[in-house]
Amino acid sequence: MEEFATEEAALPAAQGEAEHPALALANSAVALPGGHTADLLGTPARAERWLARRGLAPDGAGLAEVCATQLRSLREQVRSLLASRVAGVPALPAAVTAVNDAMTRVPTASLLMWDEKTGPYRAAPHPTTAIVEHALAAIAADAADLLTSPDAARLTACASPPCNRFLLKQGRRQWCCTRCGDRARAARAYARRTRTD
Ligand SMILES: [Zn+2]
Repeated sequence: MEEFATEEAALPAAQGEAEHPALALANSAVALPGGHTADLLGTPARAERWLARRGLAPDGAGLAEVCATQLRSLREQVRSLLASRVAGVPALPAAVTAVNDAMTRVPTASLLMWDEKTGPYRAAPHPTTAIVEHALAAIAADAADLLTSPDAARLTACASPPCNRFLLKQGRRQWCCTRCGDRARAARAYARRTRTD
């Protein structure tokens, strides 16, 4: 856990993630040099922290593995949509459906309860499910916004292998963060050196 927290802190957010939770979701499983992957949604506790940091769920929401799985599954669909947009090819229908389903699934209504002593009140029968469905709906709506807004023209994939993150381009910068930029420059310099040798 602690080791992971350090890892995450060391990787700056990609450009555009702050404005677009869907972009942050797409980038939440990061391919790192050396063949490692850091999955910010790898466990329910991590998924909960990820949501809480973005104001998408309260602290201590008590996510279950099934909730983290739902988030990871939406992530794959959103990644597929972003990749289609970047490549300029039609989206997979299943990915479009997944985003629309998440957006329109109405969280369980707050039901009327009646306490013998204190009387009537309302409460969600499955509060955690409602929290996760709200979060999925908000992220899916943002994915739809991102893909149809002027920002979509700036959407691109980080050009510094093995990074698999998406970003919103600013100027000519093709990488998601300074660390990827430094790695790309170092790789270019190395290639130049080995060519001249
Ligand atoms: Zn990158």
